[in-house]
Amino acid sequence: MDLSNYHSHCDFCDGKAPMEEFVKAAIAEGFHGYGISSHSPMPFEVSCAMPRDRVTAYLDEITRLKRAYAGQIELYAGMEIDYLDEQHGPASPYFQALPLDYRIGSIHYVTHPLTGQRMDIDGNEARFRAALAERFDDDPAALVNAYYDASERMVELGGFDFIAHPDKVIMNVTRRDPSIAGSRWYQDRVMAYLEKIAASGVMIEINTKAYPEHGVLFPAERHLRAIRELKIPVLVNSDAHYPRAVNEGRAAAFRLLREAGFRHAMCLKAGKWTGIPVS
Ligand SMILES: [Zn+2]
Ligand SMILES: [Zn+2]
Repeated sequence: MDLSNYHSHCDFCDGKAPMEEFVKAAIAEGFHGYGISSHSPMPFEVSCAMPRDRVTAYLDEITRLKRAYAGQIELYAGMEIDYLDEQHGPASPYFQALPLDYRIGSIHYVTHPLTGQRMDIDGNEARFRAALAERFDDDPAALVNAYYDASERMVELGGFDFIAHPDKVIMNVTRRDPSIAGSRWYQDRVMAYLEKIAASGVMIEINTKAYPEHGVLFPAERHLRAIRELKIPVLVNSDAHYPRAVNEGRAAAFRLLREAGFRHAMCLKAGKWTGIPVS
């Protein structure tokens, strides 16, 4: 199995170890390529994001590691860039000007279309429920629609290589209302999003972060066939926050991709996105 990963964190953001520990873990697992992708700086205070004044040190550390481990692994400078609104996202001039090898488009915060109130869709269930009640009138369907509206706008604006965990909102929404994920309107909403992605030419990651504990992928397994039929390129990433997690869920994701009829997944080879067999 081809081993690489382009979605990973470290202690420049909310990852739990220094960047070099992740690189060593990837080499020990036999990876040919590894990308570091800390959470982008945000325009408001948030503990999981990299502060803007740390970005130069972040890029310098990746450059140092590229040199130190040349010949052992291909390292890449990435960033998981939050799309918030028209002013802040992967297409923003600040992020476009950074000397990155690739960019990830990602959504963790969703804004209510009428009140302008913003909430975090990820993380802890109790906090999610409280935020939904306070900022989205306790209406999970309204949150889902705002999430996909923002996701579609992020794709329209572009400026990134692949989408992180494209249906992440469904994790906490399902805990609040288990009927939504299987509903017709939700399936239609995801399908419309996938069609927009297919037309844009960006890739989708198959995010395995929750697979070891919860047995779920983002995007959910039920969407894999549609992604294949729309010919959207995919890559498998572990979204590792711990060095031991660099390879978690990869074998299972490759198996599910094969079962859904995929023949190829993408990885970087000498700096170019290249298809590799999922066998
Ligand atoms: Zn993320
Ligand atoms: Zn991440």
